[in-house]
Amino acid sequence: MAPFRPVLTARLLAATLTLTALVAARSNAQQPAPIRYVLRFPEPRTHYIEVEGTYPSSGKPSIELMMAVWTPGSYLVREFARNVEGVQARTAAGQALSIQKSRKNRWLVQTGGASEVVVTYRLYAHERAARLDWVDDSYALVNGAPTFITLAEKISRPHDVLLQLPTQWARSVTPLPAVVDGQAHHYRAANFDMLVDSPILAGNPSVREFAVDGVKHALVNVGDTTLWNGARSAADVERIVRAAKTLWGFLPYERYVFFNILTDSYDGIEHKASTVLFADRWSTRTPAEYHDWLSLVAHEFTHAWNVKRLRPVELGPFDYESEVHTQNLWVAEGFTDYYSWMLNGRSGLASREQTLADVSAAIRALQTTPGRLVQPLEMASYDAWIKQYRPDENSANVSISYYTKGSLVALLLDARIRRLTRGVKTLDDVMRLAYDRYSGDHGYTSAQFRAVASEVAGTDLGEFFRLAVDGTAELDYTEMLALYGLEFAREAPRDQPWLGIATRVSGGRLIVAQVPRGTPAYGSGLDVDDEIVSIDGFPLATNGLADRLSQYAPASRITLLVSRHGESRRVDVVLGVAPLRAWTLAVRSDASADERSRLDAWIAPR
Ligand SMILES: [Zn+2]
Repeated sequence: MAPFRPVLTARLLAATLTLTALVAARSNAQQPAPIRYVLRFPEPRTHYIEVEGTYPSSGKPSIELMMAVWTPGSYLVREFARNVEGVQARTAAGQALSIQKSRKNRWLVQTGGASEVVVTYRLYAHERAARLDWVDDSYALVNGAPTFITLAEKISRPHDVLLQLPTQWARSVTPLPAVVDGQAHHYRAANFDMLVDSPILAGNPSVREFAVDGVKHALVNVGDTTLWNGARSAADVERIVRAAKTLWGFLPYERYVFFNILTDSYDGIEHKASTVLFADRWSTRTPAEYHDWLSLVAHEFTHAWNVKRLRPVELGPFDYESEVHTQNLWVAEGFTDYYSWMLNGRSGLASREQTLADVSAAIRALQTTPGRLVQPLEMASYDAWIKQYRPDENSANVSISYYTKGSLVALLLDARIRRLTRGVKTLDDVMRLAYDRYSGDHGYTSAQFRAVASEVAGTDLGEFFRLAVDGTAELDYTEMLALYGLEFAREAPRDQPWLGIATRVSGGRLIVAQVPRGTPAYGSGLDVDDEIVSIDGFPLATNGLADRLSQYAPASRITLLVSRHGESRRVDVVLGVAPLRAWTLAVRSDASADERSRLDAWIAPR
């Protein structure tokens, strides 16, 4: 029995029955016939799903089937067809049909005149990530794009999913509406987009429900829930929902599911009426980790407005077989990060100090990334597919995160608008106006979003965006600091020697992981993947680099012996002085009453 179908109140039950009945009736008369899937899990510990799809042929001699190569919200071609095996086709009566691959992710079926074609395949589901599929003997996470082979066509048609669960699993949960036909675990997506946007979780989850303005929400915890504080987390998620509703003015869905998979890592992906979160199972036990989880919740939940409905023009309708490039992920992801800070602060879940620490961490991350002087923000977005999602050892030198810099552009834009309008308008007004204009089927271009910001500010902000978004100049924090009475905390100069590399330990060896631009090591001849063996002839323990360097004065010349591809090399480096890099925001002790009141208006809780 699904715990979170819309049958929780009489009013919703009636609405659901009416809606479902209408869908069923129209599917015969006006709508294209549905594709019907049955999912079975005969041996979940082998991580396989058995999929049976029944496809209408529409009287054609052949039909072509397609599997997505990527899924929205995660900008990387993942080749989901690589997990498919044993593809076979037959008629409903069981007569075998010819099926052949026509592309890496497509199959061509000769229908033999049959009105319906049944295609079966096995799917390997062994990737623990919010956007992928996982099956073991405790639960299954089924995402649309990596699971369902659909018809390669432009027609929007319903996709029905029936789950046949192992006896040890009691529940399935999905934002999809249930098909009211007496069969448990039977759901209908109005079209393939909705199927892709609607994860299905099966197993024995712990479900906590709450309502905000009569709209049902569920926090669905699955995995090892014994360490997790379910009651507290559900209460705090509700506070985030209420803060978001205050920001946007409404809740844009009929019900919403927070899937929370308890494991040992953090991950999340957004959908219109749900999010899939991966969380460390210990997170509710330590304030810092719990704050990270709440930030993840607030980020993915903000996406219900920003990106799932108010979206860059390129992000819909989706071509599931090709990369889709947009320049606007700095709004879609960066502004969403900014609002995760704001929602946690406004809901009282984060103290003012915590919010300032979050902002400081983002500033620190940007200001210590050499790539900020190389890659403009819109290029970081456009190249997400080949850079953000494919990082390597040189990434920090040549690229930036549109999450990080985007969140700081939101910070500075909010401050600019508050100053220009004397606090009458804020970035909230920009987001709400942009939503009014460009949500739904519209989508916004970069120019349109910028124009909305200028309209709210009452001033042309073209120069602001040209500097912050189009260029690679340093962000200017002066206006923001002055507005709120803030400063970067002064640091005592550190007269410490500085080499500037990042290292990792592998197989008992100390390995150079990164050589950032602008450091003493850059240009010295030291390479990524070099094993550092000794300094000035003295061997080095894998954890001894910092301690050894501290024995030298800045400007000392040292000689490293490294092993590179099995060959010994000597590399001379002149050490520098460790730069100040805390970038920690603090309230100025002499902040004026006006500055303090603007700070209160921005982030109130102390
Ligand atoms: Zn996001």
